[in-house]
Amino acid sequence: MNARPKKSFGQHFLHEKRYIERIVSSIAPRDGDTVVEIGPGEGAMTMPLLAVAKKLTAIELDTDLIPGLQARAAPIGDLRIVHSDVLKVDFSALARELGAERLRIAGNLPYYISSPILFHCVEHAAAIQDMHFMLQKEVVDRMAAEPGSKVYGRLSVMLQLACKVTPLFTVPPGAFRPPPKVDSAVVRLVPLAPDQLPKGDPAKIHAVVKAAFAMRRKTLSNTLKGLVDEATIRSLGIDPKARAETLSPADFVKLANAT
Ligand code: SAM
Repeated sequence: MNARPKKSFGQHFLHEKRYIERIVSSIAPRDGDTVVEIGPGEGAMTMPLLAVAKKLTAIELDTDLIPGLQARAAPIGDLRIVHSDVLKVDFSALARELGAERLRIAGNLPYYISSPILFHCVEHAAAIQDMHFMLQKEVVDRMAAEPGSKVYGRLSVMLQLACKVTPLFTVPPGAFRPPPKVDSAVVRLVPLAPDQLPKGDPAKIHAVVKAAFAMRRKTLSNTLKGLVDEATIRSLGIDPKARAETLSPADFVKLANAT
């Protein structure tokens, strides 16, 4: 406990009890759930989650934190720690290994790789029941943004095509040790059912979204040059002079299917 937090691992330990309780009650774990925590740190969320779920798998990159976590968890429940970079964890394989139909993933994420972690989880969405993450509030705003908003972009479209995104509440810097420079927020992500998923090639969708938002201020006919021509964009009922930020996630799927 109370190790010096490491900046290089994005360590900001949550210490305010009321926020820990709010996160745990938002997750509402049940005995028998297969809960996986990303970045348990000193166990602020791990121990209350373990107390209810009885079994928990935690993925932690910092070796120094592992003995403390094991010692604190021993009287509470069965904590299995995977010492790894979370980006290298195959969640679909982990679900099979744990004998779970789907995982419930939670974590106060290391902010320096929060977007890569989100994209990584989305790749394994079929193996995930839900996700509850603490992130920079600015990132949560982008994830949940709607077309027309200044912060609507690649993250909003890619996440909303895979999950229902629900921002839950804001957490101030003072709730952490050391306090981060920005406000944080907790968000719930629930992967869409197979029949709600976009009908299209994920790689093509990714390519179109990336190209369209690479230069936000340019029109689609400009940014999608080489991918979809102007006449085709128009034939889909989309204005080629529009900017990416005005298109719905479903519009991007239409465009991708035309490439
Ligand atoms: N859950 C704890 C809490 O709320 O107090 C710690 C949260 S802290 C913001 C992020 C945690 O993620 C740290 O424990 C850090 O060591 C861990 N971490 C950083 N990079 C990681 C990575 N690539 N894979 C797994 N864990 C990582």
